[in-house]
Amino acid sequence: MRKPMIAGNWKLHKTVSEALELVKDVQKNVADVQDVEIVVAPVFTALYPVAAELKGSNIAVSSQDVYWEEQGPFTGEVVPGMLKDVGCTHAIIGHSERRQYFGETEETVNKKVKAALAAGLTPIMCVGETLEQRESGDTMNVVAAQVRGGLEGLSNDDVAKIVIAYEPVWAIGTGKTATPDQAQDVHKSIRDLVAEIASADVADGIRILYGGSVKPENVDELMGQPDLDGALVGGAALKSDSFTRLVKFEK
Ligand code: PEP
Repeated sequence: MRKPMIAGNWKLHKTVSEALELVKDVQKNVADVQDVEIVVAPVFTALYPVAAELKGSNIAVSSQDVYWEEQGPFTGEVVPGMLKDVGCTHAIIGHSERRQYFGETEETVNKKVKAALAAGLTPIMCVGETLEQRESGDTMNVVAAQVRGGLEGLSNDDVAKIVIAYEPVWAIGTGKTATPDQAQDVHKSIRDLVAEIASADVADGIRILYGGSVKPENVDELMGQPDLDGALVGGAALKSDSFTRLVKFEK
């Protein structure tokens, strides 16, 4: 059985004190939840205090990006070992905003996934098509190329450790959500592709999250789809009440 994951991507929001206020509240609300893996991804500056606050709790901490070198002259970058050092266990990699604004490519995503795995971080690898690509019928070609590129050269054991997040670009931060059927179609195709790239067992166990305007009003229906194993959430993760409701989704 795949344990569902609800992950909050805070993007470029929240100072340290705001971040602590939010996680303290979430922590109180979800303390009784055991059957869902809960993850929050604050900005780099808040990772250490948030991870310290959440130590021993049922909420894990993720970075929003990572670099692939170990150390050296790479101004501005942060590497997996440093993220582990401050208490991170997960790393979001290849978010569409990084692909769109910061030149992320299949190749850099692949290097980051490998570096994160080597350090023992769980990569949450994001894929997804733009509206133009969807309208021209290219969704699965685009998503398949991103999945293949991101997983290139990985052993089956390593593929099994990854979480994939399907996030249609046209649904991120727009209020437009993929319908449960649209999401299910792509999730099923991604799972079939993982079976082809790795094995049927790996495909069966890998978690595929949906992201794109997930909110309390639509989470239950989305989570009712057989191949949706959780959600990667932006806007609705910034408030304790809505994030809590997502964690406590009902199928
Ligand atoms: C995201 O940032 O990954 C995301 C899905 O954002 P939102 O939930 O705001 O659409």
